[in-house]
Amino acid sequence: MIVAKFGGSSVADTRQIEKVKAIIEADKDRRAIIVSAPGKRNREDQKITDLLYKCNEEVQKGFGCKDTFSIIEERFLEIADGLKVEKKALIAELDEIRRNIDAGLGADYAASRGEYLSAFLISQYLGFEFVDSSTCIIINQDGTVNPFSYEQISRIVDDSDNKGFVFPGFYGSTESGNIKTFTRGGSDITGSVVARALNADIYENWTDVSGFLSADPRIVDNPRTIDSLSYNEVRELSDYGASVFHEEAIAPVMKAGVPINIRNTNRPDDKGTIITPDVKEMKLAGVSARGNLSRIKLRKLMLFKKHGMRHALLTMLHIFGVRPSFSLYGIDSIVWFFDSTMANDSVLSAMCDRLKSEFELDEISVDRGHAILGIVGSSVLDDGSYIKAAEALRQSNIGISFLNYGASDVSYAFGIREEDREKAVRAVYDKLFK
Ligand code: ASP
Repeated sequence: MIVAKFGGSSVADTRQIEKVKAIIEADKDRRAIIVSAPGKRNREDQKITDLLYKCNEEVQKGFGCKDTFSIIEERFLEIADGLKVEKKALIAELDEIRRNIDAGLGADYAASRGEYLSAFLISQYLGFEFVDSSTCIIINQDGTVNPFSYEQISRIVDDSDNKGFVFPGFYGSTESGNIKTFTRGGSDITGSVVARALNADIYENWTDVSGFLSADPRIVDNPRTIDSLSYNEVRELSDYGASVFHEEAIAPVMKAGVPINIRNTNRPDDKGTIITPDVKEMKLAGVSARGNLSRIKLRKLMLFKKHGMRHALLTMLHIFGVRPSFSLYGIDSIVWFFDSTMANDSVLSAMCDRLKSEFELDEISVDRGHAILGIVGSSVLDDGSYIKAAEALRQSNIGISFLNYGASDVSYAFGIREEDREKAVRAVYDKLFK
């Protein structure tokens, strides 16, 4: 059994969905299909999911969402026309969805309807069974997948007959039965959950690039495609900002060891990137940089003398909505980096005052405009490339605020300034990959 997930660009319009059909029909084992909501058809276009979030916001603010919803309606009706799918049922679904959004069912419900309608239409077009993910995928409060989901999915998809199934990506339900979405881009997670439940031979993730590239093509001209990666390398590349595959989507398949193949719907003959549990070949894989980070620095003499200090400080950060994604510890100091969108300036200032007084800190400061450059690959701890990478940054006059080497077997990272992000990726790519 092959589990195949098709992303937003692969289902953006009729022409793309025809390609999806051709891909599915080329291999009879492709029987469990996961689809995203229609994405952008061109640069100026809008994603259906973004429009649905907008509808919900408009309703929350007390305005109607009629105009925004009509753009969504038009888009789905156009797809149904193109696919020659009967429109009566679709129109009834659209009406019900608009009523529910208007009634204030909330952001998760609204956002999930893009995937719901996409799967609803595509299942009819393929002649496959539609499985509403809210009936089988349970998402815990913290966003992780409840293991009971795997049993439920395998019960629905009976392997003995050769039927095909289409699941909407991105959402499931809470234990109490409300619609809940994963984080943005979460259809990759749905695909991974279904692949694990069905113990798939392979999880194919169809998108608009021919696999992971060794650098962002918007920054570097013609970066190489990476043939193979391990689960860990993918997690790290994604964490440093490579946006091909959702960082949380590795966890479900990890236990079952299902290989993942990133493929290009527009170039189905390309082999793409194959992702396996273990490293296939020792090599440098890629360079990527995550930007828009803020930094909090704090200092106190004998900071760690008191047991549980780190935990207590982090708990306080969480109260202010700040969840650091990167940490550095010194004898009397801590540096944390976090996504700048997590808190505005006044929240940060209140947080610093509170931390300073409550923990009697000697110093505390927050500043914005940071980025972290990650170099990923199975060979990084043996190949001495960090010296060359540091040299490349220095030669390009890029300041380094830290070097993190050794915490991971498959990556190391440099702290840099946001404004140097693209320059740094280019400099390191040229030095290590050309
Ligand atoms: N449609 C959702 C989003 O735009 C989920 C996905 O495409 O994976 O984030």
